[in-house]
Amino acid sequence: MYVIVCGPLNEGLETDELFKKKVEESVQYAAYDVSEGYKKKSEELLKAIWKQYAEAFNNSYDEHLIFETLNEPLDNFHEHSWAPKSDCTVCKKDYAIMNEYNQLIVDTIRATGGNNAKRFIMVEGLAGKWECFTNKFYKMPKDKIKDRLIPTMHFYPMGSVSSYLCNFYTDSIKQSVKESFDAMDKVYFSKHIPVYISETSHSRFIPILERIAAIKGFMSEVTKSNRSCAVTLHANNDVDGSNDFFGYLDEWNFKWFDTEYLDTLIYAAEGKEYPLSAEFLKNNETKVESIVGKNLINEPFDTKKWGANYKINSDTFVRSVPESYKLEFVIKKTGSSPIIMITWSDENYQWHKIPGTAKKIKGGTLADGNVRPSKTTFTVEIDSETAKTIEDSNGLYLMGQDVIIQSMTVVE
Ligand SMILES: [Zn+2]
Repeated sequence: MYVIVCGPLNEGLETDELFKKKVEESVQYAAYDVSEGYKKKSEELLKAIWKQYAEAFNNSYDEHLIFETLNEPLDNFHEHSWAPKSDCTVCKKDYAIMNEYNQLIVDTIRATGGNNAKRFIMVEGLAGKWECFTNKFYKMPKDKIKDRLIPTMHFYPMGSVSSYLCNFYTDSIKQSVKESFDAMDKVYFSKHIPVYISETSHSRFIPILERIAAIKGFMSEVTKSNRSCAVTLHANNDVDGSNDFFGYLDEWNFKWFDTEYLDTLIYAAEGKEYPLSAEFLKNNETKVESIVGKNLINEPFDTKKWGANYKINSDTFVRSVPESYKLEFVIKKTGSSPIIMITWSDENYQWHKIPGTAKKIKGGTLADGNVRPSKTTFTVEIDSETAKTIEDSNGLYLMGQDVIIQSMTVVE
């Protein structure tokens, strides 16, 4: 068995109440941040931490002990912290600082000599995201010894926080996994550099057969013969679903949950397929009902001059609608200039609206992606491409002014 000792997690710093409380209560409670303003402080801390770790774990520990530089390091003070952008000045600066931190950590570990001079070190990029360690801004540290650095990342193909989970294993999830491995092929695998995925998992809130299909699909990419790749399952002991529900292992009672999911993962890692019993498949079938003809608004929604929004979970639209469909709205005007915005955000938190091209609206007109209704019943045509992006979004939101939306119904 191998043990990975990982550097610290990004603390929420000023955004996290718990962190602020710890700072107040503690004589010394420090954190690092990947930002220019916090650089000096962070470097001192990271150097001290890694010197301490590296001196504590050295010669008596052979190659079965691996170090990992940091856990999802990011710029807590920047709006793009979890999704750094390549055209943002601050993010570009943060990428450069990230490279410096990783270099500092590698140098600090190597300087302690002994087995640490040749120990494998896993190196993480901004936010632990694959996009951030396969782009041109990410640099692997320079090392005195050859082939001992392993780029590493975290990947939750169906979401990592309960409010943003996908409940269905969709084509777009499959596609995003493929996209990430294609990027890693280019930057790492083709150059015979291995990659370690130090966290992956699927929340137990997700229907089990969807999770099983997803981990199977994920592992089929991991285990392709031209790739040297391995994964750690993130099982966070949340066994009662009080938070994100990644509790596959009850660490206090040493009890495993959903062993079909775990066995699928373990078998797949060995290039085999775990046989699920007919009974298990039957008992856990994911049932989805058609929502055609259903009103998706629970009670009339007053837009209150852009002061409120109504969210419809994107899972609502998965496997429950035809490839293309219409949304039929029934409204009540409350002012002279009624507008309705239909909007959704994608996995990179980019907002989308009904595109201006080729979208047919009956009973209203489209202006800036918003609907200006001329009648109290209007329909918006959702073509198959738009339907896909809604299905893959973080939810559909309705906003607007001078109008109460009484119903929104999916019609064919
Ligand atoms: Zn930025």
